[in-house]
Parts: sequence; structure tokens; C-alpha cells
Amino acid sequence: MEIRFQKSEVFPQGMAPSDEKRLLQVVEICGRTAYKSEDKITDDSAKAFVLMLKKHGHLSVLEHSNIVLKLEAHPVAKTPKANIPSDNELFEMLIKTLKERNAYHRVFPLHPLAAGGVAIAANLRGWIETLRYLKASSRDLHQLFSTSLSKFYPVLFQPEGSIAEGSGLQVSLMPEEEQLALLRKDAASDLPMFIFKFICDRGITHEVVRHRVFSFTQESTRYVNYKNKGMILILPEEIEDCYDSVQEQFVDHNPTVQQWINRAEILFDWYRDDLNRGLRPEIARDILPNLLKSEIYVSGRWSGWRHFIQLRDSQQAHPRIRFLAREVRGYFESLGLH
Ligand SMILES: Cc1cc2nc3c(=O)[nH]c(=O)nc-3n(C[C@H](O)[C@H](O)[C@H](O)COP(=O)(O)OP(=O)(O)OC[C@H]3O[C@@H](n4cnc5c(N)ncnc54)[C@H](O)[C@@H]3O)c2cc1C
Repeated sequence: MEIRFQKSEVFPQGMAPSDEKRLLQVVEICGRTAYKSEDKITDDSAKAFVLMLKKHGHLSVLEHSNIVLKLEAHPVAKTPKANIPSDNELFEMLIKTLKERNAYHRVFPLHPLAAGGVAIAANLRGWIETLRYLKASSRDLHQLFSTSLSKFYPVLFQPEGSIAEGSGLQVSLMPEEEQLALLRKDAASDLPMFIFKFICDRGITHEVVRHRVFSFTQESTRYVNYKNKGMILILPEEIEDCYDSVQEQFVDHNPTVQQWINRAEILFDWYRDDLNRGLRPEIARDILPNLLKSEIYVSGRWSGWRHFIQLRDSQQAHPRIRFLAREVRGYFESLGLH
């Protein structure tokens, strides 16, 4: 069928993984959504795909990820060296040196500061750009992070120098379970990144992308050609109850349903005519409606999602974004986050 309708859907993807292989796979899935080229995914396609994005500077897709490093004092005290900063000093140095990079990181003290230890989180893009920044501003921090990142993420980061002998610091990766446990204990930690896939209409994705603290990758109407795929519209509220999602068809063919189908056919014919006369999909899309089905991956931390829920699971919000927000709320409630 050339024109189909469907309901909005929410697919929680869980926390962004810390393991490099899974991280690459998640970024690939998000990235391929833009071009609807998921059929090109193979067991080993992720590495080449993500490195291609990195090389070409398409870094926004790399934001669907999270790397949380723990920096802690070495358990066996080493002979203090005059040029090695104390843990408190290190924490302060981090905050100070990162300066305009602060917005892209979460830095959270793991223990009372006197005992030392911080967790520092950012998505892949955050780390790539922070390394570039540190290269010019702090040799010590650059060495510390580039050595650690290349150890845990050898595909994504090349080692540049090595950590100064006797720095007294242990750097480790914080796995998702630990990030979540910390978040449940203290919402201010805000370390995990949660990823959702929404299927909704273009009108609603436009509202979703207004939430600037999130990262997004969305099906592209510039690249996707719907001529052969057919056009899928999200069900408008007034005919939602006339549709059976299991049978994937209208069960009540009342005049309003028929009117929506007729309108959709006119628009889709117009789109196809434009393609047939040689216009590119990015131009022919001009006539596609707000109700066009779109897939979008949205990544963010709990603070961002909590804000999203507050604004969008509300009577003032559009019913279809409210539906998304309610599903998101349900997911977080299942994790014990309210
Ligand atoms: C009921 C409703 C009606 C709406 N109607 C309209 C409308 O008519 N027209 C319209 O244009 N939009 C409208 N919006 C969208 C709204 O204005 C926001 O763009 C959207 O809700 C995202 O909210 P936010 O900016 O708080 O979230 P985010 O962009 O995710 O920001 C989250 C937090 O980050 C901080 N932040 C992010 N960026 C900045 C920044 N640049 N400077 C300072 N702080 C920042 C702030 O603390 C903010 O609270 C509506 C939203 C709702 C819920």
C-alpha cells in the first residue's frame, strides 16, 4: 500500500554502553537512521561507519554515546612528588582548565573531596573536542585523558604521550550499572546517558528537537526517497480509534477517515510527480505533510529527561508529544527514577 498510517511509538534503548564495541554499534544504528540504511549493518560494519563519521567531522551522531572515566588516587600511596597535584588540586584544575568545555561534561566528586576521586563524563564528541582543547591548554591533562581513552577505546583514540611517571592517579571506566547506582543515590551525579528511539510525526520531532540539551539523529527527508517505500503518516487524534494497530488497517471507514486518505493521496501524488519531473527528494519533500512518520534517536542525561517530562507530560503539551513523554516517564519509573 502506498499510503499507510501508524501510531506513535517509543523504544527505550537503555543506557549508552561503556564497552567500545557496543558503543560503535549504537552510534551506527543511530547514524543509519538518518539515511534509512539500516540494511547495510553487518557484524563488523560499525567500526568503519563510525570512523568515517569521525573523519568527516559528522560528530553530532557520535553524541549518542557516553564515556565515564573515574580518576582516583592510587590505593597504594606513592612517594609524593613535588610536581604531582593532590587530588583536591586535580579536581580544581579539571574544572578550571576545562572552562568553556564544562557544559559538555559532568564532573562529579566520588568521595568527600578530601578522600579524592572524581568521575568525569562526556559523550564521544565531547571527549574528541575536549582532547583538542586540552592539547592547546594543558599538556598534563591532555596526556592523562588521551592515554586513558586510547587504552579503553583503542579504535576511537590514538595514544598521544603517556601519563607522567608516578602521577598517583588510577583511571578506570565506570560501567553503566555503577553510573545508575550513583544516580539513584544522588541525582546530581547525572552520569548515565539514556537513549530513546521515537517514531512520531515531523511536527512532533520539531518540538522534540527544541530540547537543546539532548542529542538527536533523525530520518532525513532530504536523503530518503519515499517514492517506492510509500508514505507513512502518524494517525491524527480524530481518527486514531478507527485504526487497528494489530491488523494494520482502518476498521471504521467513516467519512473522516476517507477524507484523510484522500488528502494524503493528493499530497503523495504531488511528491511523486515532482520526483518524476526530475526534482531531488530534498526539493520534492516540500509538499510532504507535518504528519509524515519520522524516526528519531534522542539521547540525554536524567536531568534533561526529567525536564522533558515536566514540560511535555502536561495538559498544555500537544497530545502526541505528551504520549512520548508519558512513555519516557514510565521507563524512568521502572528504573526507580521519578
Ligand atoms: C506547552 C508548550 C508550549 C510551547 N509553545 C511554544 C511556542 O509557541 N513557540 C516556541 O517557539 N516554542 C514553544 N515551546 C517550546 C519551548 O519554548 C522550548 O523551546 C522547549 O520546551 C524546550 O524547553 P527548554 O528550552 O526548557 O529545554 P532545553 O533546551 O532542553 O533546555 C534545558 C535547560 O538547559 C538550559 N539551557 C539550554 N540552552 C540554554 C541557553 N541557550 N541559554 C541558557 N540556558 C539554556 C536551561 O536551564 C534550560 O532549562 C513550547 C513548549 C511547551 C512545553
